[in-house]
Amino acid sequence: MSATVELMDYDEVLERFDPVLGLEVHVELNTHTKMFCGCPTGFGAEPNTQVCPVCLGLPGALPVVNEIAVASAIRIGLALNCEIATWCRFARKNYFYPDMPKNFQTSQYDEPIAFNGWLDVTLDDGEVVRVQIERAHMEEDTGKSLHVGGATGRIHGAEHSLLDYNRAGVPLIEIVTKTIEGTGARAPEVARAYVATLRDLLKALDVSDVRMDQGSLRCDANVSLMAKDATEFGTRTETKNVNSLRSVERAVRHEMTRQAAILVDGGSILQETRHFEEAGGTTRAGRRKETSEDYRYFPEPDLVPIAPTREWVEELRATLPEMPEQRRKRIQAEWSLTDLELRDLINAGAVDLIAATVDAGATPAEARSWWVSYLSQSANSRGVELADLPITPAQVAAVISLIADGSLTNKLAREVVDGVLAGEGEPDEVVEKRGLKVVSDDSALYAAVDEALASQPDVAEKIREGKVAAAGAIVGAVMKATKGQADAKRVRELILERCGA
Ligand SMILES: [Zn+2]
Repeated sequence: MSATVELMDYDEVLERFDPVLGLEVHVELNTHTKMFCGCPTGFGAEPNTQVCPVCLGLPGALPVVNEIAVASAIRIGLALNCEIATWCRFARKNYFYPDMPKNFQTSQYDEPIAFNGWLDVTLDDGEVVRVQIERAHMEEDTGKSLHVGGATGRIHGAEHSLLDYNRAGVPLIEIVTKTIEGTGARAPEVARAYVATLRDLLKALDVSDVRMDQGSLRCDANVSLMAKDATEFGTRTETKNVNSLRSVERAVRHEMTRQAAILVDGGSILQETRHFEEAGGTTRAGRRKETSEDYRYFPEPDLVPIAPTREWVEELRATLPEMPEQRRKRIQAEWSLTDLELRDLINAGAVDLIAATVDAGATPAEARSWWVSYLSQSANSRGVELADLPITPAQVAAVISLIADGSLTNKLAREVVDGVLAGEGEPDEVVEKRGLKVVSDDSALYAAVDEALASQPDVAEKIREGKVAAAGAIVGAVMKATKGQADAKRVRELILERCGA
């Protein structure tokens, strides 16, 4: 099954072919109850404890549409610049799979709730690609199969399989792009950036947890190649359920190099689903792809059509938050950032942290400086993401305000931050426990200055003669004597005053 796969060099692929993409993203909504029944939707519960006759498809059970899920679908559609249907229906998509107890999935077919939209995607270097959205439709999730006894966790080689229907009936929105052409060498990057942008958008809308690692956001990547002189699209493959941003990029790239090698060898691409193999960054064949005719779609007779009034749609439009892209532009202007500086902050995952630190009272420049320098170094040395450091923006803002009012020097502030990161409490508590306050009492400083001058009379003499640069040595001695807790600028002033310079 896993015979060695020929791959073509990536640059050669691009000399001969143009890649064509189509991306389907499934997002699980964060409603408290399922799409057509009142069962809870929490992740990670004991298997088969969140089920009822409706989501188990028992005889006589009748579904009822979750209004909040419809509202979320419409908000997603509006955020993606889609038209919202004035009337649409659910449809039955018929097929057998053990994790789907009804033997059909309640979905939407030719009457999606939202259609004809677009999403602007900014690539790492700032280039913007507009991705056209075909549709966003409502459906329900399936249950989960667990294959036991095999080495791989797949059904192949397993001794038996277990089924958990907790996820069956959880509301899903499937967002489908139109074909994405003309991206050339950047196709894998565009695919990743699209999913990342969509994830940020859905997060801002607060309609989903968008956890790719937990499957609440999943991407199917359709990839085909078109020979340079061709006039029609090539046959596509669909790599299913890719569950990280990096994997989306790798899966697209792998499919391009795999398909190209087959095509130049005179072979043809099978229209099939494929599975992404995380370990090798490759894809393996799944099932031959069905066509929509195979599913015998028909309108769902147990559910009333959805006919959102224009008033309701406008009410929902008014609930849309500031979109991530607009927010970035506003922040760039407010923080006076160049494109490059903004991109660095985005790539470092620092924008939200800085914004929250500014909200807690810091200036943008100070907040940015702490997060991109000292805290980034701390995150690096711990091997964690910036956002996962055990310090909050409010705590960073508190440290910054202690510097501003003269209670801390920058050096002491770094020690306070270290203390917070080490779990020693709030900044105030760390200052107290570690005794880190700046010595601002001039009488204490005069004593230290006099002592330092007395111990280095030759230096003191030079300062008296007007060689003020020599004061540095005395400042150093005073800082040492006060264990770095004096304000160096004030110490220098006192030295010059004592020497009459
Ligand atoms: Zn149920």
